[in-house]
Amino acid sequence: MTDLHRNYIAGEWVAGADTAKNINPSDLSDVIGVYARADKAQADAAIGAARAAFPSWAASSVQDRANWLDAIGNTILARKDELGRLLSREEGKTLPEGVGEAARAGQIFKFFAGETLRLAGEKIPSVRPGIDVEVTREPIGVIGLITPWNFPIAIPAWKIAPALAYGNCVVFKPAELVPGSAWALAEIIVNAGVPKGVFNLVMGRGSIVGEALVNDRRVDGISFTGSVATGRAIAAKAIQRMAKLQLEMGGKNPLIVLDDADLAVALNCAINGAYFSTGQRCTASSRLIVGAGIHDRFVSALSDRLAKLKVDDALAPGTDIGPVVDEAQLKQDLDYIGIGQKEGAKLVAGGQVLERSKKGHYLAPALLTEATNAMRTSREEIFGPVASVIRVQDYDEAVSVANDTDFGLSAGIVTTSLKHASHFKRASEAGMVMVNLPTAGVDYHVPFGGRKGSSYGPREQGRYAREFFTVVKTAYTLP
Ligand code: NDP
Repeated sequence: MTDLHRNYIAGEWVAGADTAKNINPSDLSDVIGVYARADKAQADAAIGAARAAFPSWAASSVQDRANWLDAIGNTILARKDELGRLLSREEGKTLPEGVGEAARAGQIFKFFAGETLRLAGEKIPSVRPGIDVEVTREPIGVIGLITPWNFPIAIPAWKIAPALAYGNCVVFKPAELVPGSAWALAEIIVNAGVPKGVFNLVMGRGSIVGEALVNDRRVDGISFTGSVATGRAIAAKAIQRMAKLQLEMGGKNPLIVLDDADLAVALNCAINGAYFSTGQRCTASSRLIVGAGIHDRFVSALSDRLAKLKVDDALAPGTDIGPVVDEAQLKQDLDYIGIGQKEGAKLVAGGQVLERSKKGHYLAPALLTEATNAMRTSREEIFGPVASVIRVQDYDEAVSVANDTDFGLSAGIVTTSLKHASHFKRASEAGMVMVNLPTAGVDYHVPFGGRKGSSYGPREQGRYAREFFTVVKTAYTLP
């Protein structure tokens, strides 16, 4: 358990400048492992190794790259139970959620194994007689990948797999809170035999290792997922040197429940979207925008259901909601519950810190009602098991409230009206729209991303990932 998990730089497992302990949020006495922390010099070395490896990796056979990615995907799938357990132990989502996320990571690698072989270009007639025009795609070079703690294996997978598939080299910096899943994924990639320098793991602090990636001219692109504040700070620096940028940030996602909704569907969407994974999803439905005609029935039934959810150790059978990820996030959740009440919302369910047999960061899922869309709890991302109900009079008001936000990641509507469902798919200002489905929970083979303050740059996932991970070249030939 106390063996040092090292960084992987230039084809070698190396100790860091110092170390960090990985603590289980369900059981604070459980030290999952000790992980290396890189310093700036090690980040520089990883970037140098990726740079050196790039020409031959970019020129490697697409069949070889497909084989590597397929093998990595197969290994992840074969080990999904063990990887999911590790993930749940370090991040706190329930075991079924952890195993599901690990499986998704495997599927992503297998999807991009196929995409490696499908990087078609275009041949277009020239406006000038006798000339051929070809549009092709090339890798962008060395990519710095900076990831958050809430999806410790899926988000790294959906950045690493397309980066490698399209011929880029990678320097991967996972979030400090969750080095375990990142290290396990790195080990699988290394054991698949990917050539030296192509993939590098640099665990460590964002302010040291992350900054080094953002500021280094040898890093051609930065793909970041995390908070808005960090995303903005990264963008401001990276743009100074014209790095290619892809930022996925927060959300304040609305779930509209119209008067004509099937109540059971509405409840399932709200519970899953707002509270599962402890509400720690960028796609979580933190604003429940509910028609006046269904409001009281919805609030009463939702409060009853919340009281029955089992909040406990992420690994325990039957747990519906695991712990909050750490003490700082728990404090943030509690602060926002207090802010909401001070602003005039009513706490009708949950919101208390819970004691369980093991000491961990347990919070009863909280429901605020009588909220307005102007309250801070309706405008700022909380990132915990906390949702607010905003009462509206009709569909038009619901849409206007849903779109009145600085964010635009995901938006949902629960209705039996085809007219309103169809209209909302067009009227929503979010990047992803759900009808009679939770705002969280997406497929791995289609684009993921948002608008406004939620995302910047090309979409992630599916074949749209190539917009970020490749650059277009236009060639003219006079034969
Ligand atoms: P943070 O922004 O705090 O951290 C994200 C990553 O950035 C971490 O690896 C962190 O390192 C690193 N980082 C921190 N400071 C710097 C810096 N100055 N330069 C470079 N890198 C830095 O987010 P969290 O990890 O707290 O993740 C939660 C956030 O992520 C939420 O706001 C959530 O909405 C968002 N998110 C968005 C998603 C989306 O696709 N839109 C998906 C999932 C999450 P370290 O923490 O190790 O120091």
